[in-house]
Amino acid sequence: MRIANLAGRLVLITPDGAVDVSKASNGQFSAAPQAVYERWDEFRDWAARADHSGAAPFDPADLGAPAPAPRQLLAVGLNYREHVSEAGFTLPVGMPPVFTKFVTSLTGPVTEVALPPGGHTDWEVELVVVIGRATHRVPEAEVWNHVAGLTVGQDLSERILQMEGPAPQFSLGKSYPGFTPTGPWLVTPDEFDDPDDLELSCAVNGEEVQRDRTRHLVFSVPALVSRLSRVLPLLPGDVLFTGTPAGVGLGRSPQRWLGDGDELVSSVEGIGELRQRFAAA
Ligand code: ZN
Repeated sequence: MRIANLAGRLVLITPDGAVDVSKASNGQFSAAPQAVYERWDEFRDWAARADHSGAAPFDPADLGAPAPAPRQLLAVGLNYREHVSEAGFTLPVGMPPVFTKFVTSLTGPVTEVALPPGGHTDWEVELVVVIGRATHRVPEAEVWNHVAGLTVGQDLSERILQMEGPAPQFSLGKSYPGFTPTGPWLVTPDEFDDPDDLELSCAVNGEEVQRDRTRHLVFSVPALVSRLSRVLPLLPGDVLFTGTPAGVGLGRSPQRWLGDGDELVSSVEGIGELRQRFAAA
């Protein structure tokens, strides 16, 4: 199953287009995309037998974030071996570094992003997990049963602010407006042959800069969610960025940053793509 946020309304994505969930369910489910995660199991049961006859074509530019208002928006760093090397850190043991991207930075899949003046704005394509059930102290083997679905994310990062000061400012440097595009839709785990082995990549102006597979994650989705859940309860609709592979601008020689007019396309196998255009502020 695929669901999306189309102009602020929850829709099912079908081969014939989008089905408005509130209308197709006669109001049983809210039109608000974030509300569905509170009733995820019930919604999945309904969706499996939903009437798709109202499917209509749509413009991808009207898509918003599949989980637009999570109570928690978590992200982890240093979760692919080669990226750890290029960033100049040592491999995390026990738990990768965890930070938040503040929710005001969250957007849909097709956007224009204002570059912070004087900044060094970098790309990080990531697989993103949306939680579908309250997840506290959950063992790895049960994690996929707690995941509503997967989407594509960009963990856009302004490196000067991120690295400034006596301790790094990961959360702040990654939370400018528009710095957390997600989408184009949420795909449930059962849609993948192996949800632990998906190719992800991104390109700047058509030139590929990152490509890897999620089987190379240092902490897999089950390991990551289980370990986080030992500390804090993950709530339905929470969003988790799982880390980026090698190839970011920070790790290049010479280093490379996003500039006025650049276009960034990010994709994950079996899900779809994000498209960001950057503009000088
Ligand atoms: Zn990241």
